[in-house]
Amino acid sequence: MNLNRNPDPAAPKGASIVIVGGGVTGLSTGWWLAREGHDVLVLDKGVAGAEASGRNGGGCTHHFSPLFREEQRLWPMMDELLGYPTEFQPNRIKLALTEGQAGIYTAAMENGAYQGFSSERLDPRQVRDLVPLAGEDVLCGFFYHFGGHANPHRTLQGYAWAMQDHGGRFLQSCAVTGFRTADGRVTGVETERGLIACDRLVIAAGPQTGWLAGRLGAAVPMVLARAEMVVTEPLPVMRHGGVDGNGLYGRQTLRGNLAYGGGPHEWIDFDGVSTPEKPSTPLLGHIGRRIAELLPKAAHARIIRSWAGAIENTPDGRPVIDFLPGWENAVVATMSGVGFGLSPASGRVIRDLVIDGSCGFADISSFRLERFDALEPDWRALQGWQAIAPQAIVR
Ligand SMILES: Cc1cc2nc3c(=O)[nH]c(=O)nc-3n(C[C@H](O)[C@H](O)[C@H](O)COP(=O)(O)OP(=O)(O)OC[C@H]3O[C@@H](n4cnc5c(N)ncnc54)[C@H](O)[C@@H]3O)c2cc1C
Repeated sequence: MNLNRNPDPAAPKGASIVIVGGGVTGLSTGWWLAREGHDVLVLDKGVAGAEASGRNGGGCTHHFSPLFREEQRLWPMMDELLGYPTEFQPNRIKLALTEGQAGIYTAAMENGAYQGFSSERLDPRQVRDLVPLAGEDVLCGFFYHFGGHANPHRTLQGYAWAMQDHGGRFLQSCAVTGFRTADGRVTGVETERGLIACDRLVIAAGPQTGWLAGRLGAAVPMVLARAEMVVTEPLPVMRHGGVDGNGLYGRQTLRGNLAYGGGPHEWIDFDGVSTPEKPSTPLLGHIGRRIAELLPKAAHARIIRSWAGAIENTPDGRPVIDFLPGWENAVVATMSGVGFGLSPASGRVIRDLVIDGSCGFADISSFRLERFDALEPDWRALQGWQAIAPQAIVR
């Protein structure tokens, strides 16, 4: 997606705040800053949405995050705040086919209740009333009066266009290759289109965040996993599009397509710089089978599209949003696989760090980088996150 409003072949010479990465994290941050009148420039090495931000499941249900309340508060307002549609739809229905799945969804229901959000357990008849594509064998369902889903591409467009409406700038096809520094501050970014000066820097470059932070001497431990999604032909539109379970995440689009993804993920060996390979693999058959189990009345639907994307993972699965050690004017953000749903809130957190020096609305101490100070050098092997050949995966 080329989302530049005023494409200018000449790179700007500088900006007050430069953000590296035009995914949902960088663009949400850019929008939060631009709407207050800050001079912000977002740089992306490619085009918006080419990486995880344009390839995800659109889920906004992160009840285990310290940003959960803000995620839930902001999403219903985002269309109005941005002035562009995100196709956000509230609530989530989980279908359990086994007692084990019911246990997992009950725990999520209890966590939601702990944070002030209600849910209901549904019997099989109630499930079939609410989810016409569900089958006779469903054990039970859970209706969460929280969470939801949105259209990743629409949302990305909304951030990019709204930011530019407020005077923010977005330059695509402009890879950042290094940094200039002086007196403990980052003073500029080196790009393939020349040097761009900055007063403050945000690195929100998805999988490449670790490599870029390394150029400033900081370690951001992360590894990549390939995940895949499939889209079916359109089916009759259900009243609630946010139905998932059976190890899948996804939604029914406004047109009626079922768009689902889910594990097992394939761990990737990644050099930290080049865009990771995203081939389709037999994971797709696995996802298709689980959709047919989850929604048997959709089992006949043909799969018309599929893609893979790279999920960025930190060792403990939580985001990093923090100042980069040693640099008082640089913030780093990588979202560890939950970045789409959290993006309205994560952009606001980063805005707070850049402008106020701390987050004013949530306790984000668990996002600090220092929690990895004592990480074992072989932490990846210890977690069992080694890359394996796709054909070795059990389907
Ligand atoms: C299949 C799949 C399903 C998912 N489902 C969900 C879901 O349902 N809900 C959810 O919340 N999350 C989901 N995620 C995770 C979510 O998509 C990511 O956490 C989120 O998109 C990360 O956004 P980001 O902006 O931080 O990074 P990215 O989207 O990776 O964007 C980073 C950008 O930085 C740019 N960049 C990198 N290096 C440079 C450089 N040197 N110079 C300039 N630019 C650079 C890249 O081109 C890229 O555009 C899913 C991910 C995948 C792959």
